[in-house]
Amino acid sequence: MRNTSIRVRLTIWYGGGLALIMILFASALYLVMSRALQDQIDVSLEDAAVAAARSLEEHRFGPFLLLDDLAQAFPELALLDKFFQIFGPQGQITLQSANIKTQDIPLSEQAKRSALKSQATYESVRVHNEIPIRLLSYPINHGDTLVNILRVGTSLRPVEEMLDRLVFVLLIGSPLAVLVSVLGGWFLAGRALRPVDTITHTAQRIAAGDLTQRLQTTSTDEIGRLASTFNDMIARLEASIRQIRQFSADASHELRTPLTIIKGETELALRKDRQSEVYREVLESNLEEIDRMSRIVDELLFLSRADLGEIKIAKDPVQLDQLVQEIHHQAMVLGKERDINPVLGHLEPTTIVGDELRLRELLLNIVDNAIKYSQEKGTIEISLEHANGMANISVKDHGIGISPEEQTVIFNRFFRSDTARAHAQKGTGLGLAICKWIAETHQGNIRVESSPGKGSRFIISLPLHGQV
Ligand code: ADP
Repeated sequence: MRNTSIRVRLTIWYGGGLALIMILFASALYLVMSRALQDQIDVSLEDAAVAAARSLEEHRFGPFLLLDDLAQAFPELALLDKFFQIFGPQGQITLQSANIKTQDIPLSEQAKRSALKSQATYESVRVHNEIPIRLLSYPINHGDTLVNILRVGTSLRPVEEMLDRLVFVLLIGSPLAVLVSVLGGWFLAGRALRPVDTITHTAQRIAAGDLTQRLQTTSTDEIGRLASTFNDMIARLEASIRQIRQFSADASHELRTPLTIIKGETELALRKDRQSEVYREVLESNLEEIDRMSRIVDELLFLSRADLGEIKIAKDPVQLDQLVQEIHHQAMVLGKERDINPVLGHLEPTTIVGDELRLRELLLNIVDNAIKYSQEKGTIEISLEHANGMANISVKDHGIGISPEEQTVIFNRFFRSDTARAHAQKGTGLGLAICKWIAETHQGNIRVESSPGKGSRFIISLPLHGQV
């Protein structure tokens, strides 16, 4: 059953359920009909018995009842195929109607006993084991004395015939109804499940590698919603695969550049014998490139571990104002070479919860960029202020700036603007991606305001009362 298609299973359940309902319905109908027909017969027997009893009383219970009189008084009795028998109180037959077709049916002991208690008795019997007859034995009393027992009977054959016809109709009709409904159910299940087949085929094409495939969705029903969810999922999958491909291409490119430099310089140096200073120079340059490559590999490793959720973030109190002050000191050392002057602005005393080492890495990266992308003798302003429950650290430079289009992508891995490449050779394009990850894992964010050629301002917001 588990491997059977939903369509077959639905149809089996549907057909099975319907068959069960039909069986229950047919049985109930048969029972109700037979009960109603028998009740109808019993009522007509009683009516006839009451009428006949009244007639007998009018004739003063004498044995002179003329059947012709009776038939005349109730002409419908003969038509209705009823017969009468009148028994004495001991059960001996005294009179019976002419239309009785069978031999005498003796009064049952049960009927006699009930008659003595002034109770009528209904019985169903079969004459010669074939003709079904319904009998009503009706006591006729004079005062407290049982004078006669009047028995009215009628054949149950019409009832049986009607019930047989009903059974026939039900036996033919019910399976037919089930068959028609099962065919209808099979057709409807097929129609309802057709979009699922389409989804499956598209999914197979996607699984085979074609991520550009999308499902056609026009409806907003369950299948329509499934299809649009599926489309969204594939779109995200396509975007992340594109990102991964881009990322691998960028990573190889970034690693190949220093390798090409190392290879080129080494080959050039080896082309002829040179003085030892030349070799030293080449080795020093190679070491620089190797350092750059190690940085790229380290940062890549950090980001991929971060993606996998393998990097744990400490949740310790961090004296942020003190940290900013220390970073300012480091900035003064870093900026010395290019005569850049880091200035400390307003410094609000601040404690947050977080990982001091990671926050130091974040701030150092931002300050390092500010120095790197500043013009010589430039100024950098660093400050720490509070606003809306956040601690905002601002690092402002007056350097090359970032164009509005580039502001949206600088946090992407390996992005380096052409201006930045021309301005500073060093750099991996991974620093800001790491900064963004650190800020966001602290439930904060990082953003930039900048004008090309005028300078940039990076703002790192961290929650004052937040939990990492
Ligand atoms: P990089 O190692 O190249 O500095 P980052 O991820 O730190 O890598 O920065 C990505 C890019 O963002 C840089 O290449 C540069 O184009 C731009 N950028 C970052 N900081 C600044 C800044 N202070 N001024 C101008 N451009 C910046």
